[in-house]
Amino acid sequence: MLKWCTYCQEFQGEVPPFDTLASTHGICQNCVPHAEHLTSRELLG
Ligand SMILES: [Zn+2]
Repeated sequence: MLKWCTYCQEFQGEVPPFDTLASTHGICQNCVPHAEHLTSRELLG
């Protein structure tokens, strides 16, 4: 899967399973300080 930062939309790289190009969202280290108020549920939305 392709992982994107849900906060800045920056591409984070590929994560398992590698046989699909579907996208998933997480948060990059740069955005963690700016998104502390968000819950993991919101981030993974
Ligand atoms: Zn980010």
